[in-house]
Amino acid sequence: MVRAEAVVDLAAIRHNVATLRARLDTAQLMTVVKADGYGHGMVPVARAARQAGADWIGAAVLEEALELRAAGDTGPIFCWLTTPGEPLAQAIAAGIDLSAGAPWEIDELVAGVTDRPARVHLKIDTGLSRGGAVPEEWPTLVRAALKAEREGRLEITGIWSHLASADEPKSPANEAQVETFETAIAVAEHLGAEVEYRHLANSPGMLALPQTHFDLVRPGIATYGLSPFGPALPSAELGLRPAMTLRARLAMVKRVPAGTSVSYGLTWTAPKPSTLGLIPLGYGDGLPRHASNGAPVQVGGARRTVVGRICMDQCVVNLEDDVAAAGQEVVLFGPGTGGEPTADDWAEVAGTINYEIVTRLGARIPRRYV
Ligand code: PLP
Repeated sequence: MVRAEAVVDLAAIRHNVATLRARLDTAQLMTVVKADGYGHGMVPVARAARQAGADWIGAAVLEEALELRAAGDTGPIFCWLTTPGEPLAQAIAAGIDLSAGAPWEIDELVAGVTDRPARVHLKIDTGLSRGGAVPEEWPTLVRAALKAEREGRLEITGIWSHLASADEPKSPANEAQVETFETAIAVAEHLGAEVEYRHLANSPGMLALPQTHFDLVRPGIATYGLSPFGPALPSAELGLRPAMTLRARLAMVKRVPAGTSVSYGLTWTAPKPSTLGLIPLGYGDGLPRHASNGAPVQVGGARRTVVGRICMDQCVVNLEDDVAAAGQEVVLFGPGTGGEPTADDWAEVAGTINYEIVTRLGARIPRRYV
C-alpha cells in the first residue's frame, strides 16, 4: 500500500456464499454483484462466488452482465434493469437472462432475437413500486410472453419480484408481498406458463423469511459479510465475515496548540494541544462527507476520530497525544475483529446504511485481493 487500499478478503466472500447456500433447502443461490460487487470488485467477487457454489450471478445493468461474460463467466446470469435502446440482442446472444415487466418490453426483447430465444423472467410489482407489472396488468404481460414463447422467440424462465421491507421481518408488508407473488404465479400457471424459477428474496428475506425462498434467492449485501439489519443484528451473529478493510497511510502528522481549528469552515477546534494526522482519502474517494466530525478510525491500535470536515481528497484525524509519523497506517473500517471500526460504525455517523459505505468507494482506491 502506498496511499490507500481496500483489501478484499475473497476467502470471506467464499465463506459467506457457502454459509448462505447452506441455509437453503432446495432453492438455488444467485449472488448479486451489481455496482462493482458493492464496491468490492465485480469480477473477482463473481469468480469467488462461483467457486463457493453460487448457481447464478445477478447484475442490475447490462454493462455489468456483458462484462461478466467477457471476463469468462459462462454460468447463468440474470440482469434485471434494461432501458429502451440498449443492446438486448447482444445480451440474448450472450445467453444472459433478462427481465420484462411490460408488454412493450417483451416486444423489445423479441426484436433482438436471432438464433436463440430470449430467456425472460417476468416481473410482477408486488408492492415496491419500482419496475414490474402491477397485478391488474399482469395477465396481459403473461399473455404477451406466452404468445412470443409459442412463436419460439422467448422462453419464460422465471417470475420474480423484489421485497420492500424484508429488513423489518415483522412488517406486514412482507406477507402481503408474498401473497401477491403467489397469486401472480397461480395466474401465470393458469394461463399456461411453465416457470422454472420463482424468486423474491434479497439478503434480509433469505435470512429472516424462509417463506420468501421459492426456487431461487438473490442475496447481495450478505455476500460481502455485512448485515442487512445493520447494528440491530451484527453480521457475526449471522455467521458472516465482512470482506473489506479500508486502509490508508497518514500523509502528514503535526502537533498543534489548543485553539487550532481544522478544515473547511473551521468546524472543529482543538480543546488542548493535539497531534493531527492527515488521511489522504476524502469524498472524492467515496468517504461520506456527512461523517465529518465523528467518523471513527484506528491508528496504532487506538480508536481515533475524524475532526473537521471531510474534504474531497483528505481528512484529518485527531491523534490526541499519540506518537505518530507520516506513513503510519490508519484503518478506516474492516471486519471489526481487531478493534477497528466497521462499515456499520461509519454508516451510523454518516446517517446511512452499510451498503452505501462500501458501494460508494471510488475507483481511485485500489482494491487488493487476499
Ligand atoms: N435483487 C434485486 C432486484 C436488487 O435490486 C437487490 C439489491 O438491492 C438485491 C436482489 C440484493 O439485495 P440485498 O443486497 O439487500 O441482498
